[in-house]
Amino acid sequence: MEIIALPADMQRWSEAVRRRGETIAFVPTMGFLHEGHLSLMREGRQRASLMASSLFVNPTQFGPNEDFSRYPRNFEGDCAMMRQVPVDVLFAPEPDVMFPRGSQTWVEVTEMTGGLCGAHRPGHFRGVTTVVAKLFNIVKPHIALFGEKDYQQFRAIERMVEDLNFDIQIVPVPTIREPDGLAMSSRNAYLSSDQRRQALALSGALRAAAAAFKAGARDPHELVQAARRSLEGTPEVQVEYVEAVDARTLENVARIERPVVVAIAARLGPTRLIDNMVFAPA
Ligand code: AMP
Repeated sequence: MEIIALPADMQRWSEAVRRRGETIAFVPTMGFLHEGHLSLMREGRQRASLMASSLFVNPTQFGPNEDFSRYPRNFEGDCAMMRQVPVDVLFAPEPDVMFPRGSQTWVEVTEMTGGLCGAHRPGHFRGVTTVVAKLFNIVKPHIALFGEKDYQQFRAIERMVEDLNFDIQIVPVPTIREPDGLAMSSRNAYLSSDQRRQALALSGALRAAAAAFKAGARDPHELVQAARRSLEGTPEVQVEYVEAVDARTLENVARIERPVVVAIAARLGPTRLIDNMVFAPA
């Protein structure tokens, strides 16, 4: 696996392989990899002749009181996991190379990032879409893969690609879970063993929403109520939001006539966790 730190070197690499007819799949990450990241990379591996990834803990997507400085890092371990896939090229820049003094251009997807996590993390999605736009210009992929775990992020990037005419296919990949149902996340490393058990409340709440849907509920509030009631069984979990919105536009809906996503964000102590599930009527 080639490791590249400078944007110009990465662009040269991509131009060279494109000229010889290769296709590039790309998975951007913030590192501290787990099976969720690897499933995106394996899927990319299948869909293109070369697999590129990036490792960059993006300071612009963290709020001032968020966990940027303590975000878990393990560069050597991450490289070893990427070599297993195998990933062909890793772009791993330093923060001041990506956002040098004087940077002042932002990419912002507006309506779609106003609700859900966007309502609770001001500036977060602007940081995400800006860095992903930059990474697209640097890595020049044909396709890019994103986890449904970060559902609003996936939809915002899909919107950005359409709105700005990026010539890149966006591919969603289903959430990878631990055997007990917890969605894999680099932030799970923050949880104590008690919190690790309590964190199951999120996937449990989504299962409760699924049961309501299966029983015929087509009012989105019924799914939200089922999830909320389930979450009440674990008082340590501080719910930030539970919402059911159109799975494509993320807008509110009165009835479930098209796919909806039920999305949850909650805190366990200082750790913020998210999870979601999509429900599609027949
Ligand atoms: P991150 O390193 O957290 O920025 O995540 C990098 C990519 O991996 C994003 O597209 C995430 O949505 C995706 N991802 C993170 N966790 C999972 C998971 N449990 N299953 C599938 N994809 C995931």
